[in-house]
Amino acid sequence: MSEINRAVKGTNDILPDKSYKYRFVENKMLETAELFGFKEIRVPVFEHTEVFSRNVGEDTDVVQKEMYTFEDKGGRSITLRPELTAGVVRSVIERGVINGALPAKVCYIGGCYRYEKPQAGRLREFHQFGVECFGAANPAADAEIIALARQILVTLGVKGISLKINSIGCEHCRKNYVAALKSYFEEYKDTLCGTCNGRLNRNPLRILDCKSPICSEIAAKAPLITDYLCDDCKAHFAAVKESLTAQGVMFDVDPHIVRGLDYYNRTVFEFVSGDIGAQSTVCGGGRYDGLVAKMGGNDTPALGFAIGIERLMMLLENTEAPFPEDKKCVLYVAAMGDKAQIKAGGVCAALRDDGIAAQCDLCGRGLKAQLKYADKIGAAYTTVLGDNELADGKVTVKDMKTGETYVCNINDISDKITDLSLKSALHSLEESVLTNG
Ligand code: ATP
Ligand code: MG
Repeated sequence: MSEINRAVKGTNDILPDKSYKYRFVENKMLETAELFGFKEIRVPVFEHTEVFSRNVGEDTDVVQKEMYTFEDKGGRSITLRPELTAGVVRSVIERGVINGALPAKVCYIGGCYRYEKPQAGRLREFHQFGVECFGAANPAADAEIIALARQILVTLGVKGISLKINSIGCEHCRKNYVAALKSYFEEYKDTLCGTCNGRLNRNPLRILDCKSPICSEIAAKAPLITDYLCDDCKAHFAAVKESLTAQGVMFDVDPHIVRGLDYYNRTVFEFVSGDIGAQSTVCGGGRYDGLVAKMGGNDTPALGFAIGIERLMMLLENTEAPFPEDKKCVLYVAAMGDKAQIKAGGVCAALRDDGIAAQCDLCGRGLKAQLKYADKIGAAYTTVLGDNELADGKVTVKDMKTGETYVCNINDISDKITDLSLKSALHSLEESVLTNG
């Protein structure tokens, strides 16, 4: 197949046999966030480039290496969002969301674009579910959003995941830390990768997040931010830990977590899995108290997190987490002859009006082929319309699982199917209660 007929490198198609799983997961995430008061926000897939370059940070990998940036026909520099936080902050300032009741809590689902080396769990187009909370400086807010991320993962049946938290301090305590980092990395100046060499003077914190094995090895022994926290940041971090413990949320403090984006301060956290290989971080987040003011809004503390949906799906599939079954065709109306075919269309239309998934032949196939198709698509019930059924107005409905048949009037078919479906659902429920206790 020629290149142009193939999907672009690093992109994924979610096919009909799997899309229901994504929809289930996404609905669960939105519903769980709603329990905590988060409402969905939808923002554009692209923004002015500066929204990301200035705020995600000029020295981050995302901005230096990964952005899809282009000039539009009006000569503007546009970037496909590599993450959603910066665009959401732009939106809540511009549209006045943060001038209303605070804290303002929003959540989102959307595609993100990063020019990275594609591998398992690392795509060029991927999707994030995330939340942002504006106007809450209290450590209770940090604990609440961490608890929300955990509840989402637990609700979906994710297993084998651990929570790592850290505090990266505020602008005051970070000054001393950055100086200490600079003098530490200075000694390895000639060994650091080219990008990190450039970061040494501008933003040595970013070296801690470099993916190159040499830089990571050097960074592993660098001074730790936790030794440089000011009293306020220490107290804040202690209170976050205390609240998490009170809510029964288990965590490990990992002083090496700094997060890859510039806007974070104080609490940062990651949920990490041992089950999906090298790309093990499923969720990352933290506080970003300075970003709203930096982007032109009133000084508003804020925090949030994002879950990588593809990585989450890998985790759910690897651990065989339970998914509800996909919705199938309820009744397939097979037909013999032109008149019956027209009637089958009418029967399906009436069923669909009542909210019942119904299908009939669209290909001019014979009866045997129609029933074979009904079997392939997993229809729960079938019925056959022919001259006899049209003449006496009665049809036979067959339960494809049990083989049992039921006779009813054509006009009562919707009631009959509803009745049979209810009984069958009740029966499965009883069976599962009997087997599971
Ligand atoms: P990583 O360290 O794995 O590159 P990151 O720190 O760049 O992750 P964030 O910017 O915090 O990631 O994004 C939040 C989440 O989005 C990640 O924890 C991950 O689950 C997901 N994610 C990030 N980049 C990708 C990608 N290229 N492909 C798939 N998922 C991704
Ligand atoms: Mg990354």
